[in-house]
Amino acid sequence: MKIMSDISCTILSPRTRILTFDDNISVLLIIGSRFTFLCDTHLGPESMKKVLNELGTISHPEQMVIFNSHSDWDHVWGNCEFSHNLIIGHSTCRDRLKERGEYDLISHSSMTRGIVTITLPNMTFDSRLTFEEDDVEFIYAPGHTIDSSVCFDRKDSILYVGDLVEDPIPYLDYERTDLYLNTLEMLLTFPADIMVSAHSGIIVRDLIRANIAYIQAVQEGKSIDNSRFGAYDNVHQLNLNTRIMFRYEKEVRDILKEKFDFLSFWSLVPNLEKILSDELEINLKQYLMEIEKVRRHQ
Ligand SMILES: [Zn+2]
Repeated sequence: MKIMSDISCTILSPRTRILTFDDNISVLLIIGSRFTFLCDTHLGPESMKKVLNELGTISHPEQMVIFNSHSDWDHVWGNCEFSHNLIIGHSTCRDRLKERGEYDLISHSSMTRGIVTITLPNMTFDSRLTFEEDDVEFIYAPGHTIDSSVCFDRKDSILYVGDLVEDPIPYLDYERTDLYLNTLEMLLTFPADIMVSAHSGIIVRDLIRANIAYIQAVQEGKSIDNSRFGAYDNVHQLNLNTRIMFRYEKEVRDILKEKFDFLSFWSLVPNLEKILSDELEINLKQYLMEIEKVRRHQ
């Protein structure tokens, strides 16, 4: 591993490398014969300038193709540095970023690296998109979020999984945990020699199995001792609460229809990783009653 300022570079193959920032978030770079592919764009244009600096030291096709593994803020804020390039994401990645981009930017404004303008994927796909000459493939893999996808470097058998696998537990930001489990089962048998997670670096299949066990336990409502998750103990609480929010979001959307506002709904409870689930449920019930009352008086 070579340390360059506050970005470290792990060379996986002659053409593929992991670039990891000081906050331990990684992006993946694949130097194709026709295009240079960058998977995810970290926290903003300043981060991307560092990637471009790194690129300046190696020979690569000038044309860059950007891939968003999903629309979470820590993976897309650097898109604005590449507004003239192809930015690829699943069709729901574009929709989700359009809907929640501003909310995330406001909620996490202190985390930006440089001035961030929300920039949506300008090329979308549904199940799979392949750059045949470069042997690079993007595959829809919902779970962590509705819009998650993976990038497969077919030539060197390297799979970038974004946030689908995380040590010790993943964030559950999509109510369809059944689809998440399908995706993780698919990853278990995926013909990749190396798998790279955006937050956990190179991962092994045992971590996928542990993530599966965790999701199954959450799905079955089992009580989980989150003290074993160390620094991630509040992620478990956040996961439980996010699932409650999703349940209520559906009801609120039904009531408010086109008046539903993503920002105001998700800002109702500012501290989702801290609040106890019972308390959250009481608050949301109350909110639901209030908007029902307003609707009846209209
Ligand atoms: Zn992330």
